[in-house]
Amino acid sequence: MLNRYNDYNSYLKKLFGQRVQKISIDAGLGCPNRDGGISGRGCIYCDSKGSGSGAKVINGKSIEAQVSDGIEWAKKRYGAEKYIAYFQSYTNTYAPGDVLRELYSRALSFDGIVGLAVGTRPDCVDHERLDILDTFSSKYLVWVEYGLQSCHNKTLEAINRGHKVDAFIDAVKLTSKFDIKICAHVILGLPGETPGMMLETARFLADQPIHGVKIHSLYVTKGTELERIYLAGGFSCMERDEYIECLIDFLELLPPHFIIQRLTGDPAANELVTPAWALEKRANLDLINKRLRERETWQGREYSNYTAGR
Ligand code: SF4
Repeated sequence: MLNRYNDYNSYLKKLFGQRVQKISIDAGLGCPNRDGGISGRGCIYCDSKGSGSGAKVINGKSIEAQVSDGIEWAKKRYGAEKYIAYFQSYTNTYAPGDVLRELYSRALSFDGIVGLAVGTRPDCVDHERLDILDTFSSKYLVWVEYGLQSCHNKTLEAINRGHKVDAFIDAVKLTSKFDIKICAHVILGLPGETPGMMLETARFLADQPIHGVKIHSLYVTKGTELERIYLAGGFSCMERDEYIECLIDFLELLPPHFIIQRLTGDPAANELVTPAWALEKRANLDLINKRLRERETWQGREYSNYTAGR
């Protein structure tokens, strides 16, 4: 079957010759947008576990126990023998450099680990932290994942991101000087955003020297500010069809070489408030692929038109 987007699993398989599985790690590093450093509220969709994106956090376990359990799970579930240590929850560059170096080293010390992925805020990196990540890149594939969510400052303010778009631009510019791959996190369906605004985020990203994106639709989880807004009638989530059409329009605008790391969210069933369809990850992916085929389209289809028109 024709691959209509540049998917992450195929990219890893090509690089390493076999399936590579990400192992999620919660290093308990906290976030300045939750602890008062920037704000005490957090992003409006972020729950107390600091995931904000469906992270399966494993509280109370050492890094070693999380990696070892994750490897065992990936072996059983997928027969995987190679892994990426993924610092997923909270802000994983939010600590002094020596602490970070030690945390990353501990996670990478297991047999079969071939990569390091670090999720963080664009306003929480500097030369020192990127230099630390870069020291691992001679031996491991290293990705840094920056939460952007939208290219509109108005939206970033509405969701209380605590940084502006410029912070992302600066972080990407600085990261480009190192041997580190860059992924941007985007959410479709944020409060106040029209489909046109979401597609502007795709055009914005297409112009950035990044290597991949993660996209999902906004969903509401328990205990978040977004839940309160939703219950008060101030917000509704995208319908599944609406999301899929917008997502495909978004993919069409991205450069063909961007690695697509995620196209759906993966909320925990016991934490989700709405929409129920967000739980059907497999069905959602099947529908996305079906619509790509029906529309006879693919990632990057409109990218060349867009760049040619400038
Ligand atoms: S930056 Fe991440 S961890 Fe921090 S409040 Fe936002 S979603 Fe939560």
